[in-house]
Amino acid sequence: MNKYYVLGNPIDHSVSPIIHHLFAEQVGLNISYERVKVRVGSFPDHLHQLLNDGMSGCNITLPFKEIAWELSDNLSQSASIAQAVNTYVVENDASITGHNTDGIGLVNDLYRNNGLSLEGKNILIAGAGGAARGIIEPLLRKNPTQIVISNRTHQKAEKLAIIFSQLGSVIAIPYAGLGGLSFDLVINATSLSIDAKVPPIPVSCIGSSTFVYDLMYAKENTTFVSWGRSLNAYRSIDGIGMLVEQAAESFYLWNNIRPETCRVIDLLNAR
Ligand code: NDP
Repeated sequence: MNKYYVLGNPIDHSVSPIIHHLFAEQVGLNISYERVKVRVGSFPDHLHQLLNDGMSGCNITLPFKEIAWELSDNLSQSASIAQAVNTYVVENDASITGHNTDGIGLVNDLYRNNGLSLEGKNILIAGAGGAARGIIEPLLRKNPTQIVISNRTHQKAEKLAIIFSQLGSVIAIPYAGLGGLSFDLVINATSLSIDAKVPPIPVSCIGSSTFVYDLMYAKENTTFVSWGRSLNAYRSIDGIGMLVEQAAESFYLWNNIRPETCRVIDLLNAR
């Protein structure tokens, strides 16, 4: 039986074991997938122990995506540019390849589950942390007109704009400079929803055709989703679809089988 894990801290809330067991059941595979709470500072020790125990692969979540990138023997193109890894594949020679499936998970959720095309669109990303790093390259591959990044620490947004502008039009604008601009897609990649707050995006950026997307997900509407709805945005949804789609990409990397995601998203929403 192949053994998989999700490593993070905190980790008790993670629904990844549920998602991967549903995928495995769907395609007739017998796998184990467990949560591992890793003490900050001891990620390398945990990793070596799991490798010695015959781990086939794992997911990595907060706050270890950057150290997972550093410890990869090989990197996919997305992980390399994002400098963050959320999936390890253990190769036959026991080396580990780091991937980042967060961005493709978001793009697949937008395209397949929500019918949104990004070609020729103006996109605003609020936040410039690990999640923002992971989503910019896959978004740019869909040929939007421009991506604007706004972040509390403006220098971090500027740094990302420089890194990713080799792939398309990406600029950094402070929140205070967004007045008068309008966007087709507004993505909350900050961690503010955890504190029931929204980033200081001027309400004029949201119109009746704007798609509002919070990377965070929760049982109830997140504050950002409620904010989008209160402004009569075209759609305003959370990141549960992205979570399932990024998991499907990891599952595909490990098993070379693409699971069906819609029923899993529906099941999680029903819970
Ligand atoms: P990070 O900690 O790396 O980044 C946090 C970001 O939020 C930074 O840009 C930070 O700005 C900003 N921020 C934090 N506090 C404030 C504040 N008080 N005011 C304004 N900005 C603030 O987190 P991640 O990028 O890893 O995660 C971001 C979100 O994405 C989380 O909610 C996470 O759950 C979600 N996520 C969802 C996934 C899914 O599958 N649905 C996958 C990955 C992430 P600054 O740089 O100034 O500190």
